[in-house]
Amino acid sequence: MQKIKDQALGQDTHPELQQRLDQLLDMMNYESDKFLGYPCTRDFDYSPLFPFLFYPVNNVGDPYVESTFRLNTHDIECEVLDLFMDFTHATKEKHWGYITNGGTEGNMYGIYLAREILPQGMVYFSEDTHYSVSKILRLLHARNIMIKSLPNGEIDYQDLKETVRIHRDVPPIIFANIGTTMKGAVDNVLKIKEIMEEMAISSYYIHADAALSGMVLPFVDQPQPFDFSSGVDSISISGHKMIGSPIPCGVVLAKKSNVDRVARSVEYIGTLDTTLSGSRNAITPLFLWYAIKSQGRDGFRKIIQRCIDMADYAIEQFEAADINAWRNRNSLTVVFPRPSDYVLKKWQIAVHHEVAHIITMPHVEKRQIHSLIKDIKEFG
Ligand SMILES: *Cc1c(COP(=O)(O)O)cnc(C)c1O
Repeated sequence: MQKIKDQALGQDTHPELQQRLDQLLDMMNYESDKFLGYPCTRDFDYSPLFPFLFYPVNNVGDPYVESTFRLNTHDIECEVLDLFMDFTHATKEKHWGYITNGGTEGNMYGIYLAREILPQGMVYFSEDTHYSVSKILRLLHARNIMIKSLPNGEIDYQDLKETVRIHRDVPPIIFANIGTTMKGAVDNVLKIKEIMEEMAISSYYIHADAALSGMVLPFVDQPQPFDFSSGVDSISISGHKMIGSPIPCGVVLAKKSNVDRVARSVEYIGTLDTTLSGSRNAITPLFLWYAIKSQGRDGFRKIIQRCIDMADYAIEQFEAADINAWRNRNSLTVVFPRPSDYVLKKWQIAVHHEVAHIITMPHVEKRQIHSLIKDIKEFG
């Protein structure tokens, strides 16, 4: 094992390559200490999995279907899916899923299913929806309408209702944000269902984009309704955000009855080609499996509680410095006014117009919050 690690650290490579790698590593070391603006944790250690990098592993195809490409981690992938089904109140009997390359692929899969099931459907999504969704809608040729957002980032239910009313002749496909990118707002799935019921609409589809919050809400005491127990039809969750991974990844889960309809329609190519990507990453399922199994449910409860406490601590510190900061319930996203470009760049902070945020992921420490606020006071 040590020999493998030594090799990985480059002892055997060419000196000029080594120099380049060392520089890159120095940069990563420096920048990862200023990593406050994106919802990806840097707290993980997958070194026990290193030997798997020596095999041409590939999870091509449906994780539940045996493949002749046997250098795969399908069994581990299925165990990870079981865990996520448990987190989101899905069952092995009624649900299906696979490990994706990230949140975007999971969202594309959800809308793809919805459009196959309701080909005339109209997709409704709020202004605060992730930027990738308009691209997905274009790719899928899905009819769509953008709905206004409330000031906290949730979808404007009144505007949704009025707009759906105008298009009552086509089945709605609701793209619900479970934790928006900028403000961490959660669209209320039960309220959305109420709107459908009030208008006597029986045929509709709800996809939940739970990129970050899908790994937060299962571990808090009073989660907003967001999962299969609240009536969503599919859900996409990122793996590299709260769990953490040096390779982007995610999980998508959907109702088997819907997936079967899509799967059958492609059976003529001789296999169940149920996934969007053909060749699929076999390493990321190992990362997710290792992280969840080693931390356990209780471990994640503690991690999430610590993140929420850190978000509240940050808000206190901002307020003590006369900077207005706030967060949505059960969110780790601390919203504050856009600071100077210098501060944005130094702390890798994403902005949308006048709104900026930090996200108190597991690696964020008090000293970094102090240092950020000091910078804002000094440089604006
Ligand atoms: C990060 C994010 C995505 C996209 O996920 P990727 O893993 O970057 O593809 C989608 N929606 C929301 C709300 C996100 O925060």
